[in-house]
Amino acid sequence: MVSNIISSRMTVLTWMDLFLRPFLRPSLRPGLRFASGLFMVVSLPAAALAQDASGAAEEPEPRWSIAIHGGAGTLDPDRMTPERRAAYEAALQEALDAGSAILANGGSAMEAVQAAILPMEDNPLFNAGRGAVFTWEGRNELDASIMDGRDRSAGAVTGVTTVRNPILLADRVRTDSPHVFLMGEGAEEFAGEQGFEVTPPEWFATQRRLESLERMRERNLSALDVDHKFGTVGAVALDQDGNLAAGTSTGGMTGKRWGRIGDAPVIGAGTYADNRSCAVSATGWGEYFIRVGVAQEICTRLRYQFRVEALEAQLSVPHDENGPTYIVHASELAMGADIFQEVADDVMAEVKELGGDGGVILVTPEGHAIFSFNTTGMYRGRATSEGVNEVAIFAEE
Ligand code: ASP
Repeated sequence: MVSNIISSRMTVLTWMDLFLRPFLRPSLRPGLRFASGLFMVVSLPAAALAQDASGAAEEPEPRWSIAIHGGAGTLDPDRMTPERRAAYEAALQEALDAGSAILANGGSAMEAVQAAILPMEDNPLFNAGRGAVFTWEGRNELDASIMDGRDRSAGAVTGVTTVRNPILLADRVRTDSPHVFLMGEGAEEFAGEQGFEVTPPEWFATQRRLESLERMRERNLSALDVDHKFGTVGAVALDQDGNLAAGTSTGGMTGKRWGRIGDAPVIGAGTYADNRSCAVSATGWGEYFIRVGVAQEICTRLRYQFRVEALEAQLSVPHDENGPTYIVHASELAMGADIFQEVADDVMAEVKELGGDGGVILVTPEGHAIFSFNTTGMYRGRATSEGVNEVAIFAEE
């Protein structure tokens, strides 16, 4: 079934691919080379059986998948009271359920991502929308971005102060403006033209976040000292039509100044979705995520990994004087969750090497919902049509 699903979104191998193979092969690591060889042995006979007499692939079964996060950071289990933990778990579950319901009913990944992010933007527990952190000047300046894996259309806003749900404005930039990224007053002017209500600044302000700013100012601390967890929110989804989407929303980092912008609204850093590879939403120390280009880096590595797998499979087929006796269809390729996990972990390791921390969530065309983070915790959840439904906070959970 899994292999059939991929057929709707991957192209058949071409002779051009075969021609390119010698150039791509050196990039395969020894472990993966072995894995891909093994994969061919087990997958080809099964794939052949999946085709009927006319060669047509079976109709894929509906399959969907969603992952969410509510920020990653230095979370201390001893400071987490049972009440607080229950509140976070309930909030994560609410977001997960909102997104899952849309996907289970055949809705789009884009709708599901927004449905999951909205309750987290409205919930003061998270650093997005209501409950966003304060800038050095004592304001809540919001960032958000969203991307559609079907056509890689994207929308993003930064420094917004009067829009209750920045993720909706980011999507409106995508659908109703000729641009991708709007900032500050201009973004708000666009919001007004689009009929968004002006939300008073008090809506976003919470005592807890104000105290973080005050502590930072008084004791000359950094954002990391006052915010042991970050609290950005994000969602990634695969819908039953095989489309991927990703979105991220944040208040940024406590005490940000000089118009600082983090990774969350930057397409390619905090958010990326491409039906050919995966959908990613990130959270963490934004400067490092921008430098590594985390979200797009993961997608790009996966796209090329898939191509390498395809080339390996085609070359395993018997050849006669006319070339291969059988053209391997993309539907016969199935990459396991471990390959996706490895790629995400590798990219997160680069963030760590540079000195940054945080995490990512990703969903793949096969429906794998994956987390990777290098902090002690990440508020997170995932659900799939196969019955997975879980929320978690600390690393060992
Ligand atoms: N990545 C966000 C930023 O740097 C913060 C976070 O994820 O908590 O603005």
